[in-house]
Amino acid sequence: MSVYDERPWLARYDPGQPADIEVEHPNALAMFAAAVRRSPDLTVIRYFDGRITVRELDELSDAFACALLDRGMRRGDRIGLFLQNVPQFLIALLAVWKAGCIAVAINPMNKERELRLLLKDSGARGLVCLEGLHESVARGVVADTDVELTITTSELEYQTRDDPRVLAAVQRLSCAGAEDMAALIESFRGKRPEQVELAPEDVAVLTYTSGTTGPPKGAMNTHRNVVFNAQTYRDWIGLDSGDVILGVAPLFHITGLIGHVALALLLPAPLVLTYRFEPSLTVDAIRDEQASFTVGSITVFIALMNAPDATRADLASLRKIYSGGAPIPPSTTRAFRDQFGQYIHNIYGLTETTSPSHGVPLHATAPVDETSGALSVGVPLYNTVVRIVGDDGEDLPPGEIGEVVTAGPQVVPGYWRKPEETASAMPGGALRTGDVGYMDDDGWFYLVDRKKDQINAAGYKVWPREVEDVLYEHGAIREAAVVGIPDPYRGETVKAFVSLRQGQQVEPGELVEFCRQRMAAYKYPREVEILDELPKTVTGKLLRRELRARGA
Ligand code: AMP
Repeated sequence: MSVYDERPWLARYDPGQPADIEVEHPNALAMFAAAVRRSPDLTVIRYFDGRITVRELDELSDAFACALLDRGMRRGDRIGLFLQNVPQFLIALLAVWKAGCIAVAINPMNKERELRLLLKDSGARGLVCLEGLHESVARGVVADTDVELTITTSELEYQTRDDPRVLAAVQRLSCAGAEDMAALIESFRGKRPEQVELAPEDVAVLTYTSGTTGPPKGAMNTHRNVVFNAQTYRDWIGLDSGDVILGVAPLFHITGLIGHVALALLLPAPLVLTYRFEPSLTVDAIRDEQASFTVGSITVFIALMNAPDATRADLASLRKIYSGGAPIPPSTTRAFRDQFGQYIHNIYGLTETTSPSHGVPLHATAPVDETSGALSVGVPLYNTVVRIVGDDGEDLPPGEIGEVVTAGPQVVPGYWRKPEETASAMPGGALRTGDVGYMDDDGWFYLVDRKKDQINAAGYKVWPREVEDVLYEHGAIREAAVVGIPDPYRGETVKAFVSLRQGQQVEPGELVEFCRQRMAAYKYPREVEILDELPKTVTGKLLRRELRARGA
């Protein structure tokens, strides 16, 4: 059987790429070790005025790995990374691997309730976090978990070209019960941990996603998953050490983890970090650092279009732009090209596919589905077999709409300690994405709907059930239903419909505030509408579609 039997689109759509690539390294550490041998003096992190070379990153992570081991971390332990886009993310990630441990990528927007869930589910024994997050969130949480070692750090570190030790002068928050990362690195400087053998199927990172039911699930991105999709970015887009990666996606999310961090470690190439995305600052970074590649959610590019002083010249170097995580309105790609002369290429994947499974070739323009107006998410990438499956589980031919089912070396083997959820999401190893779409006769894929109730707010995923659970904690609520409604900037935003218990009275604004205090900023409902009764079928099932239509 030839690859064309299994992947018919390759016969019709030839982007000038091979069908398959080989995974070049057994694990992400071997991948980075190859970069250290090839280009030790290349700058791999640029953080404001700060510069870290490949060799320095290797040494810093060696020292930090020794510290983790000295403080009792053992092979296979999970260590949480609760950080913004700072250099310490890369130092800690490499150190976690060098200590033979597994990183848990945690959204820095998380509040106490969310952090507690992740630390408990992963059974993390260690936590590396920003001082500010320690004080505002983590401090009250770690005592309820298995975390024995908390290490804090400051975003002010590594910001200048001066010797980092000058930053001893940086004002520190005193974090009771936590050790300081810089001090630990300093005391283990020059030490190397014993080399660990990591197999391709060992878990490199747990990345959390939620679901229609139950608590968040940790997708187990293995070392093979990570290396393979770092290579996919490199080869599909034609990137090399001469490129400069602009880090606009959050590093804890799979897009940032693979399309920024793993890619920078593989090439190696400089990764430009700016702590958080801020449009004017990002425009300056693109121009000053001559960034050539980036991947981020479409709201990043909308924000750049609206940045007051962004010019065509500022973005002239940024010729390889990809956007994924949320639908891209075709009008936005046109407006962006008109304003800056650069084309935004669609790229599609999930946390469970370790970033992309589909993408638009660098030199192509994605077609648009005439009926739905959806911009194609691209064609399947290397080694990837994608089927469109009907409700009866049968494969559908080109042009027919069904669920996208993806198989390939980027698909995770499952969810951390959740065999049942794994079996239902990845039967036989192929991922049921919950995305609904079709493949056209030329092999382009389009997403036209979603099977899942997920709300996609600027690439951040919100599961109605989680917001509803929080609303139910409020004494006045009888029933709650949360849906996504259209939003001109975020694509979708969160709206809650509630009914009240008899005799109860509450203002919508009070409910918004109640949620805001208990969940990450992108999740809380921007609108709450109080109804006498929520619409239901005769069997009592909530009519979400009706609510969605009502909210639109
Ligand atoms: P996440 O696990 O956060 O990466 O979210 C994955 C989900 O984001 C997918 O199942 C899609 O619903 C959505 N998504 C990702 N990339 C795209 C894209 N390029 N266009 C439309 N939706 C996307």
